[in-house]
Amino acid sequence: MKKINPEQALCETRREFGEHGGVTPSISRSSTFTVMNPETMPEIFGGIRGPEQGGCFLYSRHFNPTVDILARYLSAMEGTEFAVCTASGMSAISCALLQLCRSGDHIVSSDTIYGGSHALFGELLPQFGISTSFVNPADTAAFEKAITPNTRVLYTETIGNPTLKVADIPALAQLAKSRHLSLVVDNTFTPMMISPARLGADVVVYSMTKYINGASDLVAGAICTSKAMVHQLMDLHTGRVMLLGPTMDTRMAFDIIQRLPHLAIRMREHSRRAMAICLRLEELGVPVVYPGLPSFPQHDLASELINEGYGYGGMFTIDCSSRARADDLLSELQNKEDFGYIAVSLGYFDTLMSCSGASTSSEISPADQQKMGLSPGLVRLSIGYTGSLEKRMEQMERAVRTVGLVKK
Ligand code: PLP
Repeated sequence: MKKINPEQALCETRREFGEHGGVTPSISRSSTFTVMNPETMPEIFGGIRGPEQGGCFLYSRHFNPTVDILARYLSAMEGTEFAVCTASGMSAISCALLQLCRSGDHIVSSDTIYGGSHALFGELLPQFGISTSFVNPADTAAFEKAITPNTRVLYTETIGNPTLKVADIPALAQLAKSRHLSLVVDNTFTPMMISPARLGADVVVYSMTKYINGASDLVAGAICTSKAMVHQLMDLHTGRVMLLGPTMDTRMAFDIIQRLPHLAIRMREHSRRAMAICLRLEELGVPVVYPGLPSFPQHDLASELINEGYGYGGMFTIDCSSRARADDLLSELQNKEDFGYIAVSLGYFDTLMSCSGASTSSEISPADQQKMGLSPGLVRLSIGYTGSLEKRMEQMERAVRTVGLVKK
């Protein structure tokens, strides 16, 4: 399997400096751009004379110089030809799928995905004539079985939200290729750690709201893919990003540009701390699930997929078996121990934790939650890296003892 170093790839891409020799890029806030030679306007409008072809930028809902810098950095990190940045993760996912599917088409999707994505596939896309079959992401054969003559897309999260089931991306890529389908992968939980495009995915989508930005202070998304698909997404007549308009603001792009260089360091520290805490929880007999633990059912697959040196990520779950006990644990951790915050989202420098069934997966019906193995008492934690690890371990141990989760 092709292992790569995304941190190095990012470092080796051309660095953009600002005006006046600034070490940071300048923010190009203009919504529109001057065309020096009016005769070139039709070509610029037609998308055949952009900045790369000696033309210029046109309008910032199309392309913008600052947002393009971020897109170039992301595509270097992912190993794709190019990328489109969007105003949210959901707009990245919905535009990518609406670009690939027409009315009458069909998607085979993992059933273990973010609740908003599940609602998009299960409730909104059917209103546009696009249907979805949901399957277990750990079972590649189930994807194959669900393919129909109308299927266009296989969709999965790399490590699924919230039960952390791992999708075999190389096997799914091979299946997609053999059936002339597109494999779309949401890599929100595992940037740098796993590089789906290098494992064969056609499109990699991100909620950059999470780890990539890392500060829980903005909402943003990205579609990393081929140049051809980027041109389709930005086509003036039919491009889903161009016409639905989830444009990234240039100031958001600048903020994320400034945080990408330390994404690798942050991911390693999220992983190091999650691993230490999970090992201790397992020693105590707490029902903890973490891809880095040898007891994790797909530990070998996770180990195969990850790029060396980034660890197994910052996400783990504790099954408290009931909603009441999950609430008790969350209260102990936030209100008594100051371990983290009861909040949805993930990838923040402090710990964020929530009961998934009652929050980020609540769009999924109780029956479907049960089918995907999501217990009502499951607490999902996104481990931060503030404070001393020793103190964090003590806080966690006290909390799990207080709510009666310690079996040993
Ligand atoms: N994908 C995953 C895995 C998520 O967890 C989320 C949000 O929680 C999204 C996509 C949606 O991203 P956004 O909130 O940036 O639209």
